[in-house]
Formats: sequence, C-alpha cells, structure tokens
Amino acid sequence: MSERAHLPTGQEAIRVKGWRGAHRYLLLRRLSQAFFLALFLLGPWFGLWWVAGTLAGSRTFGLLPLTDPLVLLQGVAAGHWPEMTALTGALIVLAAYALIGGRVYCSWVCPINPVTDAAHWLHDRLGLPKGWQPKRSARLWLLAAALGASALTGTIAWEAVNPVTMLHRGLVFGMGFAWAMVAAVFVFDLLVSRHGWCGHLCPVGAFYGLVGTRSLLRVSARNRAACDDCMDCYAVCPESQVISPALRGGPGDTPLILSPDCTNCGRCIDVCSVDVFTFTHRFDARVSAPPETVNNARSQRAA
Ligand code: SF4
Ligand code: SF4
Repeated sequence: MSERAHLPTGQEAIRVKGWRGAHRYLLLRRLSQAFFLALFLLGPWFGLWWVAGTLAGSRTFGLLPLTDPLVLLQGVAAGHWPEMTALTGALIVLAAYALIGGRVYCSWVCPINPVTDAAHWLHDRLGLPKGWQPKRSARLWLLAAALGASALTGTIAWEAVNPVTMLHRGLVFGMGFAWAMVAAVFVFDLLVSRHGWCGHLCPVGAFYGLVGTRSLLRVSARNRAACDDCMDCYAVCPESQVISPALRGGPGDTPLILSPDCTNCGRCIDVCSVDVFTFTHRFDARVSAPPETVNNARSQRAA
C-alpha cells in the first residue's frame, strides 16, 4: 500500500503538477461541452443559425448534416426509412466516433455528463455507499428494449424519455419538464447508485460504446511500472473496471485500455501524480521500463 494512500483523491497530483495540471482534461472537457452547447444556442439566443437543430439532428452552415445514429436506428426500427441527408449525417457521426472512441460522446459532448460528474463529486464528499449496482450489461438490454419499443410502437421511443435529448433540447429551447429528468438522474447517481446512470443504465452510452469498439484513440498505462498503488485513477474513473487489465498486466500484456467502455475522459491521466497514463493510438503498445531498470542501465554505462 502506498505511503500516501490516506491523501484525498487527486491531492498528490495537485501537489506535483499544480491544480491546472491535475485538472487539464477535466477543464478541456468542460470547455468542449460548453462549446458544443454554445453552437446550438447561437441561433435561438442571438439569431446566428450557424448550427440549427439539436444533438438528435442538426445542420451546420446549412450544409453539413449531423444525425444521432441511435435516433436514426430507432426510426428505422419504427419503420421510417431515413432521407438521404439524415443517413449521410448519421454516417459522418458514426465514422467520427468509430475513429476517436464512441464514448468520447459521453465525456466530451453529452450535456448530462456534468450532471453525473457533479453527483459523483458530491457522493464522494459525503462518503456515501456505492448503493445498488446493476450489471453493466443492463444498459445493453435497455438499448435492445429501446429499439424493440420503437419497432412495437412505430415511434422513436427512447427519445420521449431520454434525459440527454431532453436536457439538450431544454437548454436550447426552454427547460420545462426537462428539469425533472435531470434532477432524477442526479438524485439517482447521488443516493441510489454510484455512477449508476452512465455506468450501468444509459442506452445512449451503451450504443456509443459499441460504435467505438475498434477506435483508434486509446489511453495507455504505458508507465505502469511507476504505479504506487494510490488508487486515485480507480476513484475518479467512471468505468473503473477498464483499468486493471492495462495497469496490472504482466510483461507480455498490452498497456492499452482496450475496453469500449472507456470514455477517453482523461481523468486517470489528470489525477496520476507519477504520469502512468497517456493518450495514444491502439497500435502503440510500448511500455516504459521500470525505474530501477533505467537506473541500472545508467550505472552500467557509467561504470
Ligand atoms: S452514458 Fe448517456 S447520459 Fe451518460 S454521458 Fe453517455 S450518453 Fe450521456
Ligand atoms: S480509463 Fe481513464 S480515460 Fe478511460 S474512462 Fe477511466 S478515467 Fe476516463
């Protein structure tokens, strides 16, 4: 066990890298989330319709169509064949997330993410128990159920209750009932189930996880030899089950976090005071040498 295991999560990283260095990707993600929201708000608030629509379907500069592929898939299940523009928009979105990681949508774009992050932060501060932890596969079953419900009802079923769409539409066009859904997600994550919504139930996250199964952008525990078992990465990771295979792997095991559940949020990179983690691509399986190996090599060269 590390000597500094008693320190609150992230404090050692702040001491070593400074507050900004220990929150770099968190700050970038908040900027990214605000940027995507601002693009959609320019029209209704300032009459600048550079981007018209919502996350479900939009058009940028009247040219570039972007469609949420899950919305399109529900439409197809409901028996509505999409127009070519919507199909093109969905293919563009699919190609982008297949490349950079499907769940980049979750950590860098989705407006619910700051809500669930806030619930997690408060949950930790209050020292609450984990609570109910349904199987992580529950979100895949909910995804299948959403498509099944669309087929049965002939509607885009999940969108009627999807907190992601409701919050985004609410922020752009007025909140109304959306506040209740957002509050429900917050309270659920705070009091019922730690990381419960995004980590176990949300079918949108499950869908984007499937999209990013073979994505190029990956986090690597390249410097795992320097790990001092402080467990801070596990404490901040919204999908902590993805870390161990890369971090605890033996000499022949890849240091890459290959699970599609990883959201590429970069928090493990932020809070690691010895810089174990880094962003790289899926073909980069380099592992840094343990510190004693480097020191031995240096002393042999010096001798
Ligand atoms: S899991 Fe769902 S609600 Fe959570 S960040 Fe991803 S899309 Fe948004
Ligand atoms: S492994 Fe790192 S990048 Fe992936 S979800 Fe966890 S904290 Fe985020």
